Amino acid sequence: MKYNYPLTREQTLELIARHPTPFHLYDEQMIRDNASRLRSVFAWMPGFINYFAVKALPNPFILKVLKECGMGADCSSLAELMLAEQAGILGENIMFSSNNTPAEEFMLARKLRAIINLDDLSHIDYLEKSAGLPELLSFRYNPGPLKAGNAIIGQPEEAKYGLTGTQLIEAFRIARQRGVKRFGLHTMLASNELNEDYHVATAKMLFEMVVEINHQTGIQIEFVDLGGGYGVPYRPEQEELDLEKISQGIRREYDHLIVANGLAPLKICMENGRMVTGPFGWLVTRVRHLKHIYRDYVGLDASMADLMRPGIYGAYHHITVPGKETQPHDHKYDVTGSLCENNDKFAIGRMLPPIEVGDIVVIHTTGAHGHAMGFNYNGQLRSAELLRRSSGEISMIRRAESINDYFATLDFSALKNFLP
Ligand SMILES: *Cc1c(COP(=O)(O)O)cnc(C)c1O
Repeated sequence: MKYNYPLTREQTLELIARHPTPFHLYDEQMIRDNASRLRSVFAWMPGFINYFAVKALPNPFILKVLKECGMGADCSSLAELMLAEQAGILGENIMFSSNNTPAEEFMLARKLRAIINLDDLSHIDYLEKSAGLPELLSFRYNPGPLKAGNAIIGQPEEAKYGLTGTQLIEAFRIARQRGVKRFGLHTMLASNELNEDYHVATAKMLFEMVVEINHQTGIQIEFVDLGGGYGVPYRPEQEELDLEKISQGIRREYDHLIVANGLAPLKICMENGRMVTGPFGWLVTRVRHLKHIYRDYVGLDASMADLMRPGIYGAYHHITVPGKETQPHDHKYDVTGSLCENNDKFAIGRMLPPIEVGDIVVIHTTGAHGHAMGFNYNGQLRSAELLRRSSGEISMIRRAESINDYFATLDFSALKNFLP
């Protein structure tokens, strides 16, 4: 499924005639097929659901597709809760996993009857006072030095998220005293992790904690939320995650820890974002300028405003030039945007076919944490989002920003009376 950009050069040119570059293009059928694969691999899990991490691709049209595929929404802000609501995802199909949360967000989460996943012991009081305690409450576990993290999220010990193990036990006790009846346990320790064993170990850690909580408090946890973080192969030499291997590994731990201790059924859910949509999005751009100084530069009509990952993480995104796939990749380029920041580069020293002004350049695997991370620094405007429907028809699901959007928060008329 790697690098399967769905259009030919000719089809892309036709599309560009209607929708000028740059834009992100997503593929509905690929997203649906991937979602059903996820569901079938984990079908043995009691109550399995993936709450799609809305931050990865916060577009209500995509959320509606994912809802049809049986997914819920993992939200962590007011806007994300509102997007889930717009897409018709409601009640316990929303997981509200936020941190440093303001009262108004708890209030909306309660109104939508979302599952609330608390990030701190002190939030029990805060939630009770601001929005009241729900019947079902979940807590986010941070194992600290007991488990290693990975590069994107960092080490659990240094991460701001979650409760310590000791606090967790106390949190469940307090919540029960205050009338909470049903309980969940959550963690989120890694992002873009391609090691299957890591994901199995995370499940094992939570299962052990479920047993521990039961021993210490008598509480029977209703669900564990394994978080997101399943990786995708951004690089040609990387392999896709073996979901079957993860599933079997988790099942062994479930039998060994949950079934054997009489704690079944325990529902299992996840919050993957990246692996759900990441591989099925492409940033489609055109070459504006070529420049030859100490290195050779390809200047695109997109910038970091459309895709930050290479600039902020040095992340690799595969690049192809439709129509030139079979030409020798014998030219070395830095592929850049137009921001006045030297890290506004989509690729550094990338071997590509010889490139000309006007060529289409496709940047791959932008379906998650792509458009969503965009920003307006330097007056850059964020691109449109298009969806290739299962029928092959292409719909615009978000227009590009205009200069008026950028200036919308300024009142130029007040300038006249401001200083002579
Ligand atoms: C970002 C995030 C996710 C999704 O992470 P992916 O790497 O996109 O799978 C899930 N849960 C929480 C709480 C997050 O912050």
